Amino acid sequence: MNKLDIINQIEEENVEFIRLEFTDMLGDTKNVEIPANEIDAILNNEIMFDSSSIVGFTSIEASDMNLHPDLNTFIIVPAALEGGEKVARFICDIYRPDGEPFEGDPRSILKRALQEANDMGYTVNLGPEPEFFLFRHDESGYHTNELNDRAGYFDVSPLDRGEKCRRTIAKTLQNIGFIMEASHKEVANGQHEINWRFDNGLDTADKIQTFKYVVRNIAANYDMHATFMPKPLFGQNGSGMHVHMSLFEGDENAFYDESDEDNLSDIARHFMAGVLKHAKALTAITNPTVNSYKRLVPGYEAPVNVAWSHSNRSCMIRVPATRGAGTRFEVRNPDPTANPYLAIAALLHAGLDGIKNQLKLGPAETRNLYEVIATDVPTLPTSLKEAVDNLKEDTVISNALGEYAFEKFIEEKEDEWFNYSLQVTEWERKKYMNK
Ligand code: GLN
Ligand code: MG
Ligand code: MG
Ligand code: MG
Repeated sequence: MNKLDIINQIEEENVEFIRLEFTDMLGDTKNVEIPANEIDAILNNEIMFDSSSIVGFTSIEASDMNLHPDLNTFIIVPAALEGGEKVARFICDIYRPDGEPFEGDPRSILKRALQEANDMGYTVNLGPEPEFFLFRHDESGYHTNELNDRAGYFDVSPLDRGEKCRRTIAKTLQNIGFIMEASHKEVANGQHEINWRFDNGLDTADKIQTFKYVVRNIAANYDMHATFMPKPLFGQNGSGMHVHMSLFEGDENAFYDESDEDNLSDIARHFMAGVLKHAKALTAITNPTVNSYKRLVPGYEAPVNVAWSHSNRSCMIRVPATRGAGTRFEVRNPDPTANPYLAIAALLHAGLDGIKNQLKLGPAETRNLYEVIATDVPTLPTSLKEAVDNLKEDTVISNALGEYAFEKFIEEKEDEWFNYSLQVTEWERKKYMNK
């Protein structure tokens, strides 16, 4: 869309307000709302904001930033999400007042990674699968700890009480340009998954943010709280955000090779080897919360080992059977608390490092790693602390973030870990009170 189309559409549809969105370092969407009659200033990148209270952004001394709306992200938000009002939104890039892109902006960090892939001749296709839970609201509209249903995998209504809400979510996403593929009740009680068609790197990250906004707001309209917390319940599956990835060279899938016994190209093998090599550091970004590591335990379809396989879900990487243009692999450890811009950037840098250094991929894992004690297979970090310690030692993944964001990220996550380590839990009292 060009500027004139956008201005015309705003007039025709009587849009009253425009939300300018961006993402902070922790992956939360932030926004400022501007009256639609300021559209010229918006399109001329003139809207400034004080970024000093945004996590991972600037310090008090230099806090003014400019919002540059990405015209491709313009949508008129479905009225049901905005209490019936006519509101449009842009996703923005963040620039310093001197006109330089702000190096702490997650979107610019992803753009740098995509540029690097591009310079090597590749574009990337990504299909993320964020899972979520629906909890009931209390009278004030806040979440309770009560699930919306007791249904399991692929159950139908009335066991599945989230069906109507899921369908409204899918319809709403379709209205704003998502190509919807599937929607189903997930394994855990109250857990759901909705899938859309794969897309390029930047659009995928933007879509994950839009998806979360839509899911949360539609769920709230149904008097429910949608959470993307990785492990809300003890003893049940957690919520992952598997990411299907492939590289293309022009129209050709660079992961496919007809002559190979597995029909996988050397590029695919090197890329996977890179992701596995940097797994422990990557995890700090793809699984960035204390709670993330309560999901990465044996027995709940989440990976615990740094290994790849063709069908085994206990491994970090799985290669689905599809070949030809659909040849891809699925990274299974990420969860939906990851900042999608940073997570995709880090995964790309890891894989491209594998290609640059022609890293060798070992044989596929065939054992069920939940059941065997495989001392020969490295494990994913078991805590946020272990992951962050690994990130500090990994120059490829820290360079993926860049010095500015790396320092802020480490500072934030070490603080999170420290605060967690001060907590005394009910489990501890039960376990140790009689000692
Ligand atoms: N919820 C599982 C996880 O944590 C995945 C379940 C599935 O999609 N098969 O990754
Ligand atoms: Mg799925
Ligand atoms: Mg799933
Ligand atoms: Mg999956």
